[in-house]
Amino acid sequence: MNTDLPVPCSHCGKVNYSKASGTGGFSTVTCECGHTTAVVGEFANFVTDRLYIKSGSEFAGGDYTLTILLAAMACECEMSFQFTKWRGLDSKNWFVPAEIEAYEREYARLFSLEKKVNAVAQLLVSEQFDDFVISHPLLNGINQSGSSSPALQYFKEKIFNVRNAIIHSGKIDSRKEEAEEALIAARQFVGVLRQMDKLRQVQLEARHKSERELVLNQTV
Ligand SMILES: [Zn+2]
Repeated sequence: MNTDLPVPCSHCGKVNYSKASGTGGFSTVTCECGHTTAVVGEFANFVTDRLYIKSGSEFAGGDYTLTILLAAMACECEMSFQFTKWRGLDSKNWFVPAEIEAYEREYARLFSLEKKVNAVAQLLVSEQFDDFVISHPLLNGINQSGSSSPALQYFKEKIFNVRNAIIHSGKIDSRKEEAEEALIAARQFVGVLRQMDKLRQVQLEARHKSERELVLNQTV
């Protein structure tokens, strides 16, 4: 998979493109003004980010159906990544390929979006997905639909149902507005999962700290 990342030049403002192929890193960009920009600091699960960037590229190019498909794929990618990552970290067998395959099979058996997203939420923050969004002040405003429908329903309407209409019912005349909404909602959806991931990391670090202190106290 090739990814073109728009990189505005900090010197003249022209938007250039940094390119990445497969799992390779992004290229350094030299602008026509002579200024050079290096792309650094990709997230651990860079595949989600690259799918999302590609979704944005398709939107800019006017292919709204591909925008929606790629935005939904980015969300699916982040869900399965977080599930496999934390099942592995919890069992301390993160680097054993057979274990990772077992977690992937376990995740696939969950089948529906509701089951998958709630399994991830339970694993990361011991809550249902909707309860986490409602209870977390940083995430207020995610439900932009103006209705009282829970967050997951909002994401289903804006991303997954629209994606399903494309791949199951052949609705490939997607409108710009629905593609834009899918892009925004996908960014929010991935943002919720990464917020959960961040909280789980804080919890893990606190546990490691207390385990270290316990060992130190026992040896003093
Ligand atoms: Zn420039």
